[in-house]
Amino acid sequence: DLVDQSIKRIHEVDDQVKAFLTVDEENAQKKAKALDGQVGDSILAGIPAGIKDNIVTKNLRTTCASKMLENFDPIYDATVMEKLNGAQVITIGKVNMDEFAMGSTTETSAFQVTKNPWNLDFVPGGSSGGSAAAVAAGQVPFSLGSDTGGSIRQPASFCGVVGMKPTYGRVSRYGLVAFASSLDQIGPITKNVEDNAYVLQAIAGLDEHDSTTVDKTVPKYTEGLTGDIKGLKIAVPKEYLGEGIGQASREAVLSALKVLEGLGATWEEVSLPHSKYAVSSYFLLSSSEASANLARFDGVRYGYRTPNPENLMELYKKSRSEGFGDEVKRRIMLGTYALSSGFYDAYYKKAQQARTLIKQDFDNIFEKYDVVIGPTTPTPAYKIGEMLDDLVTMYARDLLTIPVNLAGLPGISVPCGFTEGLPLGLQIIGKHFDEQTVYRVAHAFE
Ligand code: GLN
Repeated sequence: DLVDQSIKRIHEVDDQVKAFLTVDEENAQKKAKALDGQVGDSILAGIPAGIKDNIVTKNLRTTCASKMLENFDPIYDATVMEKLNGAQVITIGKVNMDEFAMGSTTETSAFQVTKNPWNLDFVPGGSSGGSAAAVAAGQVPFSLGSDTGGSIRQPASFCGVVGMKPTYGRVSRYGLVAFASSLDQIGPITKNVEDNAYVLQAIAGLDEHDSTTVDKTVPKYTEGLTGDIKGLKIAVPKEYLGEGIGQASREAVLSALKVLEGLGATWEEVSLPHSKYAVSSYFLLSSSEASANLARFDGVRYGYRTPNPENLMELYKKSRSEGFGDEVKRRIMLGTYALSSGFYDAYYKKAQQARTLIKQDFDNIFEKYDVVIGPTTPTPAYKIGEMLDDLVTMYARDLLTIPVNLAGLPGISVPCGFTEGLPLGLQIIGKHFDEQTVYRVAHAFE
């Protein structure tokens, strides 16, 4: 029934929302039939899901929203997909994103512009805009996204849903098409915190295919959702409520803090003095990693190949020029430049040093506090097209989510009010591998 409902809803609204790139209707229905009367003890059995199109799914087209992979059918499942399949989750389809996860609006997709279900003139955020919109529009109860600099939390915030970026190393990246390997994490987007905790429980854990996953038991996050946050110590960085943060976001956080105080938590203002270097360091580091990761799309092994090249150089050049969109090319050029000899020390190395300082800022705070709280984004969703000519402003607006990736910490966005009919999000950041506390606070608040 759930699968039928989900497919029906997609038929009803996806013409307008445009969250899905591929709907695997037949297979989903077949799998649902096979489950009838056969459901094991998995709480997620029979639940339909939308999967971001940079997570590889065996025999199911995986495009990264790029012309480069328009007709790419993977021959294996990502680890998270194996885990979801094992839990009898039913993949309904693949959802839209910014091309190769580079962007904040889902407008860089080579195929379609996804709309914000709360107001179709606005973007759903990005890069996991399809994942957030599909959940917000009631097309699927949950989706998976990926977050390199905010791509789960920012669209969750823009679409009024719950999005979790786990600690770096918590969830396997095997089968996630890499953007910036030292920052990427997969995580769940859901309507509420409990559902989110169930999905993370299912996808987390050590994986022999990803040596950056960590051998730590995955707690039963749902059992920690007691509603009790008495004595919890909250840090609120002044940089997260200061310059560049819109009034609506600031006020929403201040009233959220009142709610949390009412539940027995206390908060104090702190400082993340190096967070001002986060955005520039992030763009240097993520673009450098992207320039290396995306070298594999050469028109030879897989993906788009230019027709009738004259020679090998032309094959590479034309396949990449024709296959990649503008934003991807910009990042590859920036990354290649930053890594080139003579510039490496000035850019890449400096950015790595800033990254260490940003992480240390958080380490210092977490010696005294349990969580860090602030807005997820400085503003609500942008109008469609608003950011296309103003990329620097768009990049700068990621200032609240990016430091969390640079430090490898877990962070969640939960809905915390509206302004002018558009949702706002509250960001709760935890200690490394302490998703448990992040979920407990988010659940007590929602
Ligand atoms: N918006 C950021 C960027 O454009 C983050 C993207 C992401 O997290 N994948 O790089």
